[in-house]
Amino acid sequence: MSIKQTDPPIAHSSKRMGRKKNIALIAHDHRKSDLLDWAEFNSESLSKHNLFGTGTTGALISEKLDLKVHCFKSGPLGGDLQIGAAISENEIDMMIFFWDPLQAQPHDVDVKALLRIAVLNNIPIAQNRSSADFLISSPLMNETYDRYIVDYSKRFSKDINK
Ligand code: PGA
Repeated sequence: MSIKQTDPPIAHSSKRMGRKKNIALIAHDHRKSDLLDWAEFNSESLSKHNLFGTGTTGALISEKLDLKVHCFKSGPLGGDLQIGAAISENEIDMMIFFWDPLQAQPHDVDVKALLRIAVLNNIPIAQNRSSADFLISSPLMNETYDRYIVDYSKRFSKDINK
């Protein structure tokens, strides 16, 4: 999709999010109860979208909210990487990821890869509850939105100012 005049100069192309968003939900073990509570509070809003999750988080949300959630593998078993791959294929529009700031994870490298690919693809990410509140209450949740993609290949050219 081509860029708009209002996009910044670094924009190279854009990807359209439909009105119905594909939302990835992930929480580390000590953060699951917070995400579940948030999801329950926002279940009506979430029910208007397609939900995805890592194995355990997705199953818990599906059970608690009685909503369909597409579950990838559990995070430590590759689920974070699967969601990262889905983001790079433009299959996930946004991510709510409550990671644990107090405990290292066996799959910390996967977590880092997932956050990196999400930033690279310019998708909205909420990493704590107040950010998730702002995200879910945005009017853009119910509109189409073209998010621009940066052409990072310029970074590999010899001109370091690019
Ligand atoms: P889980 O994975 O939902 O399967 O527990 C979350 C994570 O650790 O990334």
